[in-house]
Amino acid sequence: MDIQSTDKQYIANTYARFPINIVSGKGSIVKDENGKEYIDLATGIAVNTFGIADEEWIEAVTKQLKTLQHTSNLYYSAPCASLAKILCERTGMKKVFFSNSGAEANECAIKVARKYAQEKKGDKFSTIVTLKNSFHGRTITTLAATGQEIFHKDFTPLTPGFVYATANAIEEIEAIIATYNCAAIMIEVVQGEGGVNPLEYEFVQDIADIAKRHDILLICDEVQIGNGRSGKLYGYMNYDIIPDIVTTAKGLGGGLPLGATMLGEKVKDVLTPGSHGSTFGGNPIACAGAISIINRLDNDLLNGVKERSEYIKNELENADGVISISGMGLMIGIETEKDAGEVIKECMKKGVLVIKAKDKVRLLPALNIPMEQLKKAIIILKNACK
Ligand SMILES: *Cc1c(COP(=O)(O)O)cnc(C)c1O
Repeated sequence: MDIQSTDKQYIANTYARFPINIVSGKGSIVKDENGKEYIDLATGIAVNTFGIADEEWIEAVTKQLKTLQHTSNLYYSAPCASLAKILCERTGMKKVFFSNSGAEANECAIKVARKYAQEKKGDKFSTIVTLKNSFHGRTITTLAATGQEIFHKDFTPLTPGFVYATANAIEEIEAIIATYNCAAIMIEVVQGEGGVNPLEYEFVQDIADIAKRHDILLICDEVQIGNGRSGKLYGYMNYDIIPDIVTTAKGLGGGLPLGATMLGEKVKDVLTPGSHGSTFGGNPIACAGAISIINRLDNDLLNGVKERSEYIKNELENADGVISISGMGLMIGIETEKDAGEVIKECMKKGVLVIKAKDKVRLLPALNIPMEQLKKAIIILKNACK
């Protein structure tokens, strides 16, 4: 079977895939069909937290796989309860709803915000403020939350009740709150798909302050920056705020589908039996893997993320063909003189996988990528930027 032609014939045409057939890997090394090796600085879009076929994760997952693969949420089982406890203890959040993806985690956050506001303030309080250039998912509602016209085209009418403010323009947030009956403000502290742009510290502080004063919920979408990637367990922890709701997915499962919506004190009891649910959400295998991932994100590991981040930034900052560097921790955007697509292609030819974010080259390496491999990859990347 020719994989690429079969894929093109039978898979819905939503992905502009790179022309390589990935078959296996170990850690930060990925192998294609022909045995060519690549250093992976993309981790399946921030999913493979500890790279490919990580031994500890495999052990946690296979142990659960051989014991019990699924129960439905009609019964109790240990892995999801344990994971929820760990997440709450590490974040100060109070309860967790598990789902299977980032979009679903955000859908849950939006439902919680609307239910909270409508019960407390009345039916009119439904507006969710999000930021221009944000990305929150592909369902009709999370598309509505996504502040980028390009994703809305062809899919209207979207779920009503979303209003967009410019990132780092607090006066726009204030104006929206004065005009609409708002339930929540939803932000990514580092906009990922929007071009790897960290929000300004003051802006996030001001949002948290406004949200608190008006009893509007603050939702942090940590689907991409969460789970250690920022150098702290969750990205918001770099901003000294306490969100009301934190959503995450991607790296949480380390390669299995898992989404989580963490609920803070104000909203911990908003969801009631029947108000939300998921057949697969909190799957025992995905949760067992996630426990092993979260338990490894200790200070040593997070310091390693910061060191690798500094190394990458220092190497690239004044490199030929590099205009600017943005991002936080191991989520880095590179504005290049050459077209980002060209840089990505050249890297691939030379054995390094990197991806795009808007018109930037984006790096999302495994949090434990060996320095030796990282150094090798950065040399290739620098040459590709020249
Ligand atoms: C990827 C992403 C999503 C969507 O996650 P899916 O698992 O693809 O549904 C939502 N928000 C952010 C910030 C993301 O990066």
